[in-house]
Amino acid sequence: MSWGPLRPARIDFSDAQVPSAPDFGDTYPPRAGALGRSRHVFLAGNGLPRRWAGRRRFVVLETGFGLGHNFLATWDAWQQDAQRCDTLWYVAIEKHPPRRDDLARAHAGSRLPALAADLLRAWPPLTPDMHLLDLAGGRVRLLLAFGDIAQVLPELVARVDAFYLDGFAPDRNPAMWDPWRLRQLPRLAAPGATVATWSVASAVRQGLQAAGFQVEKRPGWGGKREMTAGVFAPRFTPPAPPGRQPLAGVRTVAVVGAGLAGAATAVALARRGLAVQVFDRQAGPAQETSGNAGGLFHGVVHAQDGHHARWLRAAALQAARVLQPLIDSGAVPGAVPGLLRGEQALVPAAMQQVLDTLALPPDYLQVQPQGAGAAWLYPGGGWVAPAALSAHWLQQAGITCHFGSTVQALQPTPAGWRLLDAAGQVLADVDAVVLCNAADAQRLAGTDWPLQPVRGQTTLLLAGLPGAPALPRPLADGGYVLRLADGRLLCGATSQRDDADPALRLADHQQNLATLQRLTGWTPDLDPGQLAGRVGWRLLADDRLPLLGPVPDGHASQPRTPDQPRLVARQAGLYVLTALGSRGITQAPLAAELLASWLTGDPLPVPAALVDAVDAARFTSRAVRRAARPGASVE
Ligand code: SAM
Repeated sequence: MSWGPLRPARIDFSDAQVPSAPDFGDTYPPRAGALGRSRHVFLAGNGLPRRWAGRRRFVVLETGFGLGHNFLATWDAWQQDAQRCDTLWYVAIEKHPPRRDDLARAHAGSRLPALAADLLRAWPPLTPDMHLLDLAGGRVRLLLAFGDIAQVLPELVARVDAFYLDGFAPDRNPAMWDPWRLRQLPRLAAPGATVATWSVASAVRQGLQAAGFQVEKRPGWGGKREMTAGVFAPRFTPPAPPGRQPLAGVRTVAVVGAGLAGAATAVALARRGLAVQVFDRQAGPAQETSGNAGGLFHGVVHAQDGHHARWLRAAALQAARVLQPLIDSGAVPGAVPGLLRGEQALVPAAMQQVLDTLALPPDYLQVQPQGAGAAWLYPGGGWVAPAALSAHWLQQAGITCHFGSTVQALQPTPAGWRLLDAAGQVLADVDAVVLCNAADAQRLAGTDWPLQPVRGQTTLLLAGLPGAPALPRPLADGGYVLRLADGRLLCGATSQRDDADPALRLADHQQNLATLQRLTGWTPDLDPGQLAGRVGWRLLADDRLPLLGPVPDGHASQPRTPDQPRLVARQAGLYVLTALGSRGITQAPLAAELLASWLTGDPLPVPAALVDAVDAARFTSRAVRRAARPGASVE
């Protein structure tokens, strides 16, 4: 279920010192005392900074991000602390996030101006999603979950070390303190987790006790005599479901495949401190499907806002966040000028209605008039050169590449996995393997997923052809056209199932030229027989969503009927990330972050419903559910 539509905060700044929320009849933290409040109630109340000293990761979960005062105070404390953890994850839930200009107003004259400015720069479009913002060079990872706590909390997958409970007052904002909400905390609490809040309402304290926290009153801050602090001390801790357990003690990982999926996975794992080896049968990175001269990234919109639309929106926002700096710095050819996508099934008024109903913000999506019709404008959309992007990612610290190296077989070992070549020679012994090698992943995993390779041919036109359109931004509908950095036009792509023909085909060039004509109104005066292009195969799952996560174990005994992906038993240390279809650039950054968090136990950057939707075990649990239906034939 979607968390939307999202309504931004209505903030009353008429008292400049104490902004207030008329919808709740309460105030945000007072400007002057906000920092002291955060340090006393939430940091000291959770034993911080002492508790994160020397750790690889520390995870905070805040209910009510508000204006971000607690976040900035925590980031500041982390930055000042010589003993700080390697990575600080700060997960925050917010139903009504502030608009960018309100956030700026709230922090004008901030006592932490540099941090406030960084937060403002990173502030995402206000869509009802999880947004992963990397600050402090990626060592402070702010994971914003924009939605109502009642919907968001059950969908978080994380091991939390410190809870900050900071809703408006319980009598004005009871939804934030409801005992049912507090009952979600044990599922999320890491051993020894702590909680702190300024509230001493007896219902809150009792709710925390019922959830397994030992609570005490401590001196409060400002005008408040007391506050509440607590330690998680449950009588019983149920284990995480088999499909959601991280791999304990993992240090070394082999990634098979050096295309976009493999390169993005390698970089996401290496940034978590793992030693990553990448194997590819080709002589260099991204020589197969990811080797086109350019490719697009952008979101999608659908009136129902189902899994597909939500996943691709979150992925497109993450892709823009990751790619923009690489493009701006010149590390990778590309551009983020926005992207126009023509809409054939809807008239402009209906498009506007979809936009209004979903309340998607203009920095994510707009309706743009085009002649008699209209197109969707994705301001954060653009193009990038996928091979250069893959090569850039693979050069990052902690990654070793082995090109011209075909992984023929995998063998489980007592400690992990052994990779063998065609001669039976050992290529590597590692704790974990991630299969990012498209169609060949099935063979190595020994699994049967409903995947299909789809042939696609692109067409490249020389720069400077007479009459060629300026194309300030890429255009798309079923096909696309974009201008590369060197002025050539790339258009495509055809789409053919069950077609293994590697040769360039005249009919396909003609089809791409028809796409060009439809999108730009221009027909180049040239012989299609002389055109350049490229053929590749995108791997597509039946439901058009990626395939990722730990590989199911078809032989394991299952303590519970595995009718949900999370209940399906897995092969320890064997993972897959593939089936990115024709949206590899859009999906690779988020898919890789999800895979790497899943493997290491970091907070998952997407809601549980979307994890289930892309989980490599979803076909197994679907088959179980089908078989359980009365009258169903067992497959
Ligand atoms: N922690 C914030 C800071 O440091 O600036 C202040 C938080 S303010 C006291 C409470 C926040 O809770 C508001 O931003 C409000 O929008 C949010 N909130 C209220 N009800 C909510 C709900 N049902 N789900 C999620 N957030 C909610």
